[in-house]
Amino acid sequence: MNYYSTNGKAPIADLHKAVVKGLAEDRGLYMPEEIKILPKVFFDNIKDMKFQDIAYNVASAFFGEDVDPDALQDIVYDTLSFDCPVVKVKDNIYSLELFHGPTLAFKDVGARFMARLLQYFIRQEGQHEQVNVLVATSGDTGSAVANGFLGVEGIHVYVLYPKGKVSPIQECQFTTLGQNITAVEVDGVFDDCQALVKNAFMDEALNKHMKLTSANSINVARFLPQAFYYFNAYARMQEIVNCKSLVMCVPSGNFGNICAALFGHAMGLPIKRFIAANNANDIVFKYLQTGKYEPKASVQTLANAMDVGDPSNFARIINLYSQNNKLTNEATHHRITNLISGATYIDEEIKEAMRQCYADTGYILDPHGACGYQALADGLQESEVGVFCETAHPAKFKEKVDDILGIDVEIPDRLAAFMKGKKQSIPMTKDFKDFKDYLMKQ
Ligand SMILES: *Cc1c(COP(=O)(O)O)cnc(C)c1O
Repeated sequence: MNYYSTNGKAPIADLHKAVVKGLAEDRGLYMPEEIKILPKVFFDNIKDMKFQDIAYNVASAFFGEDVDPDALQDIVYDTLSFDCPVVKVKDNIYSLELFHGPTLAFKDVGARFMARLLQYFIRQEGQHEQVNVLVATSGDTGSAVANGFLGVEGIHVYVLYPKGKVSPIQECQFTTLGQNITAVEVDGVFDDCQALVKNAFMDEALNKHMKLTSANSINVARFLPQAFYYFNAYARMQEIVNCKSLVMCVPSGNFGNICAALFGHAMGLPIKRFIAANNANDIVFKYLQTGKYEPKASVQTLANAMDVGDPSNFARIINLYSQNNKLTNEATHHRITNLISGATYIDEEIKEAMRQCYADTGYILDPHGACGYQALADGLQESEVGVFCETAHPAKFKEKVDDILGIDVEIPDRLAAFMKGKKQSIPMTKDFKDFKDYLMKQ
């Protein structure tokens, strides 16, 4: 399958190129040329299938032309070595728990899938030179990418993070791993880390010295596998209720997760409608209300993984519903609002949702999932069944959750194990010359 750019000015790419490059030459996002509709028999039998097998069917539709079937099955099975259950919270509201992966957040699936797919292409080429992944993080992406790539032969990962600006729980998830993961502690802010990575990609001498690539969240290999979650959610819901009017609610920041869900819908997944839940960063919420997309600087909130002022995957959603820019803006907006509605919550409302849900049901929400829960509590009709994504385990935001709910959230063993590990990182200034000198010696 080939991939085209949402900006329409870059050459068509094959999957290998789209994965290695991440962003197209015209700075657009890659889109698959075809979205295959899955056969009715697949949906008829889906409730008897396990997560891995459901995902393999979905993965074949996207990647089956480009990856050998046995290898693809191996990649999918290895990526999804954990559960993705739906849990009843109250009445007709269910939580899709996307936090049972290695770092307890939904980004684990995309990161691991990308690592294994990249490795597949490296091996297929018979390439012996090590590939180096550079990633800048303000917290969550670094842990998902580092753990996804951990132990993957032929690939080394450098995680750049701002000194003193990530939480202790986040920091230990990428500084204690060792093996092929190097944490680089930059004396600066997140933007400095990102600037170092960007400069490295542009530096000729460095690119001659080592093969560099990125693991950015817009990468097709990171974003498309998130569709697996929604097919699994549908299957697991079929076990519980025979729901003809399923509403899927996704707490959204860069809109990659919900975009993958919408791809699932385009492949025939029977979801009646979607809700995109935002924190105070309400750019897409406003678009849904007005048809005008006006990006602005992000504001800091309790649900900080959703603090995005110009969501990159929004371009993919527009491209999908405008039929690659064939429809007018009005027609596109109309199609989108027929399927997707929005919700937005300020920090006080997020806290109140967490407290209310805990008092009513005992279910502990993290601040991101709380936006999803509340959007269903506010917007679900009686005849509908709603599922929201709980995108992170509450222990990942322990200090906030404990403080808001007045409890002591239990830390899962997996997270506790990270915290016992020995922190190892390379101290670095924010001066590109120092970072380059360091990489030239590797
Ligand atoms: C990344 C993230 C989100 C937002 O997902 P997008 O794909 O960027 O919309 C929501 N919650 C958590 C916990 C995250 O880490």
